[in-house]
Amino acid sequence: MQTPDWERVLGAATARAMEFLASLPDRPVAARATTDQLRAAFSRPLDDEGVPAETVVNELANALEPGMVGNPGGRYFGFVIGGALPAAVAADWLVSAYDQNAGAAAVSPGSMVVEEVTAAWLLDVLRLPADCSTGFLTGGQAGNTVGLAAARHAVLRAAGHDVERDGLWGAPPVTVFVGADRHATVDRAVRFLGMGTAAVRTVPTDDAGRMTAAALAEAMRGHRGPAIVAAQYGEIHTGAIEPIGELADIAHEHDAWLHVDGAIGLWARASPSFDLHDGCERADSWSADAHKWLNVPYDCGLAFCRDVAAHRASMSTAAAYLVTGAGVARDAFDWNPELSKRARAVPVYAALRSLGRTGLADLVDRNCAQARLFASLLGAADGVQICNEVHLNQVTVRFGDGDDGDRLTDDVVRRVQADGTCWVGPSSWRGRRVMRISVVNWSTDTEDVERSAAAILRCWEAARQDA
Ligand SMILES: *Cc1c(COP(=O)(O)O)cnc(C)c1O
Repeated sequence: MQTPDWERVLGAATARAMEFLASLPDRPVAARATTDQLRAAFSRPLDDEGVPAETVVNELANALEPGMVGNPGGRYFGFVIGGALPAAVAADWLVSAYDQNAGAAAVSPGSMVVEEVTAAWLLDVLRLPADCSTGFLTGGQAGNTVGLAAARHAVLRAAGHDVERDGLWGAPPVTVFVGADRHATVDRAVRFLGMGTAAVRTVPTDDAGRMTAAALAEAMRGHRGPAIVAAQYGEIHTGAIEPIGELADIAHEHDAWLHVDGAIGLWARASPSFDLHDGCERADSWSADAHKWLNVPYDCGLAFCRDVAAHRASMSTAAAYLVTGAGVARDAFDWNPELSKRARAVPVYAALRSLGRTGLADLVDRNCAQARLFASLLGAADGVQICNEVHLNQVTVRFGDGDDGDRLTDDVVRRVQADGTCWVGPSSWRGRRVMRISVVNWSTDTEDVERSAAAILRCWEAARQDA
């Protein structure tokens, strides 16, 4: 076999990665280069002759670096984007170097055992039933899709219909009850699963964006036919957590399946500071995002299912060459929609091991305290309103009043993004423009929050003066 000079090429990648990571505390958080500059840096005809690996890596890094966003650092508060823990980044590098096909035990027994062990750890720290099944997926979208696929299987099986065999032809319609403030990926999962967004029945939510038990009971009253309820553990503007146990009881009275979109907030269950008697473990399936609050590199999401047979029936595949036998570890392809795949459980294992139970709980508590600090620093300033009670790690902020407030808020967001101290994004909440702050990074410290709040207030003063 040809032996490449791994030391040179991986050494180049290590040096460039370390340069980037070391620059995070000081670099502007937004990308420096414009799209045109990035196109100019990359655009070239593909040469006939190949280029040495080390040159490829160095030139790639040169072109990429100005277009990179500082989200692995401590002052990126846009969307819900975690950083990546050092152990998880390094483990992810190993995943690439080992280049295992983590789709089946026959191809990578080690990767499958890591999935087994990591799944058990996850169910334990998230306080979900230990006998649930787990899928290691690409993200929260996939988590919702897998949870709802298992749900679709189970509620149609109960109606005497085998959706895996017969598809939706001739199936009774399935109604999917969701809160008005659910994440868009739930609707997309419903579409992917052929149920169509017309199957979605929207349940009104409270001021914090929660579907309450009373509202769900009202919406489901008298409902007949197969039904799925998709609840949410952490709303993106308010962080509000729905009363999962109560929703589960109502869903189950109607023989409906309760899926929980836990992409943002399910990790809060790792911290004893949260109410762990909320009955969340009474749901039927849960999705979570490891690339958000667990701070593993992209891409990694999770799905957990109480009805192991429904999960497996909705995902599994079989082929003569995919040998499985006694004493062999699980096959990932039974639990996720991919066949071949990356060993996504490995960085999850590394993240959990490096944090430990206490470290994970501290990460959750620290980010929530930082969100509250943001709310108190910003909320104390003249003309600034905090629009939510800070339940979790999300803060929604508004600048100025009335219609003027919409324009001013968007202006402040634009100025903050250009200023580069931190990065926050805009949204609309209850019909008004707002700034969203999401604190999900292991490396964020108090000084990051203070510096960022000061920058946001500076931009607010400037926007106000120019108005
Ligand atoms: C981010 C998010 C998702 C989608 O997760 P991806 O990892 O981006 O696919 C789903 N639901 C909620 C509440 C989210 O915040």
